[in-house]
Amino acid sequence: LEIRCLKRNEGIIWLHLTASIIRDSTGHLKMLATIIQDISDRKRLEEERQKAEAQLRHNALHDALTQLPNRNLLMTQLERALARTRRPPHQPFGVMFLDLDRFKLVNDGFGHLAGDQLLMKIAETLTQIVRPGDLVARIGGDEFVILLEYIDELADILAVANRIREVLRQPFKLDNREVLVTSSIGIVVGSATYQNATELLRDADISMYRAKANGKDRYALFDPKLHEQVMHQVQLEQDLRRAIEKQQLELYYQPIINLRDGSIFCLEALVRWHHPEQGLILPNDFIPLAEEAGLITALDDWALNTACQQLKQWQSLYPQIQRLKVSVNLSAQDLYIPNLAKKIKDTLTKSGLAGQCLVVEMTESLLISDTPQIIRLIAQLQELSVSLAVDDFGTGYSSLSYLHRFPFQALKIAQVFTSNMLQGVINQEIVETIVTLSDRLGMVAIAEGGETIEHIRHLQRVGCEYSQGFYFCQPLAATHLEPLLQQAYPFADKVVSPQS
Ligand code: C2E
Ligand code: CA
Ligand code: CA
Repeated sequence: LEIRCLKRNEGIIWLHLTASIIRDSTGHLKMLATIIQDISDRKRLEEERQKAEAQLRHNALHDALTQLPNRNLLMTQLERALARTRRPPHQPFGVMFLDLDRFKLVNDGFGHLAGDQLLMKIAETLTQIVRPGDLVARIGGDEFVILLEYIDELADILAVANRIREVLRQPFKLDNREVLVTSSIGIVVGSATYQNATELLRDADISMYRAKANGKDRYALFDPKLHEQVMHQVQLEQDLRRAIEKQQLELYYQPIINLRDGSIFCLEALVRWHHPEQGLILPNDFIPLAEEAGLITALDDWALNTACQQLKQWQSLYPQIQRLKVSVNLSAQDLYIPNLAKKIKDTLTKSGLAGQCLVVEMTESLLISDTPQIIRLIAQLQELSVSLAVDDFGTGYSSLSYLHRFPFQALKIAQVFTSNMLQGVINQEIVETIVTLSDRLGMVAIAEGGETIEHIRHLQRVGCEYSQGFYFCQPLAATHLEPLLQQAYPFADKVVSPQS
């Protein structure tokens, strides 16, 4: 017998007990010989071995960092769910492939520990959102898959997707700093049309890719046409890689106009891609792709060099534009190049352009994560006399506190506000508020998207000093811009004085 006993003061002990009957020569029972052995040690080892085995089984099916089910367990559960849809009542299920947008930035900017911390928080959040019985798995760096068992209709999955996006949009606290995360989600309805789990996951992945390409922070539903589109994207990505090497990119320049006298204050450099088969492609159709494919830093490096050389060349041709500036756009990833400031410095030295003539535009969402890198970069740029402009100001849902801390020279009022200014009182007020805010902080306001004379009049009325937009000029190729550079006030006739 093995028996479990409670020993006074010592807790549980295990005993092994054997008893033998000893008879006399006539066969009568004489005594019972009992051996009792304390086998607690052996028992403990056995338990430990069993625990270790269970742990190994758990590890094989779970992700070490978040303890969520891993790809192996997910695949088993997907196969099970598929098997169930093949039996009546053929109830479908939902699969969501979720990838965090710009997770790399958190990792690079805050460090891997913070990245891990964020992943754990997200794992916890996702687990809380779904119903018990649903499965949240982590299948790669920042990739999660959610299996929603038993859904009645598509709307059920979409509701969960929306809830996830909403909850993830709340800032996450990492070491007293707030991080904003958004996610791109690909959605597939699991039904008996699928042969296996691999196909299902592939389609969810493809849809996630689509959500990214459509601008991130959204979901996309699987549609067989997507498969084709993905192949197209993959092709485009390869083409873009080549285009950067082969210089099929061109910089266009859009003047930013001084609304008092119609002179050009600055030129914004905007990239264009001349695709050998598809013709001209606009940045919104390839910048997100370049960011996703890690090509953006090379692209922006090229744009920075080209813009500086171009302006320097113009300045030597036209002596009257010594104070003209050129602005280049930076993407989030550029900020994490360790030697970005040095790169900018070298570019200035190589081209001979004065630091005062260069403006770097960054979107607001980049600036709110006030990581040491950004603070250092901004200080370094200031040393080079390079100005900083906040691009698309007003669209980043951020708090305004960062404005006090960083020495920006300009706030660029996002095009949506300016272009729709006269349709509604809200946009009008936003524009006016940003102008007042820039004044107070000693910055200039530049209204993007000035499209009509009414826009310009209104901007002048509220005291906005600069605007860029189709009313004055589309972005132009360098050769088409040159005639404008030869005049001191090329847009004088377009800036009528404000009517009282
Ligand atoms: P952005 O920095 O906000 O640039 C202004 C965009 O507004 C340009 O679009 C410009 O053509 C457009 N625009 C100018 N005036 C008007 C107007 O009156 N009405 C309207 N509706 N739009 C106007 P574009 O050239 O297509 O560039 C789109 C975006 O692509 C840029 O937005 C910028 O974020 C990005 N981008 C462009 N070039 C580069 C680059 O070299 N590097 C990086 N990282 N991003 C770039
Ligand atoms: Ca810009
Ligand atoms: Ca802008």
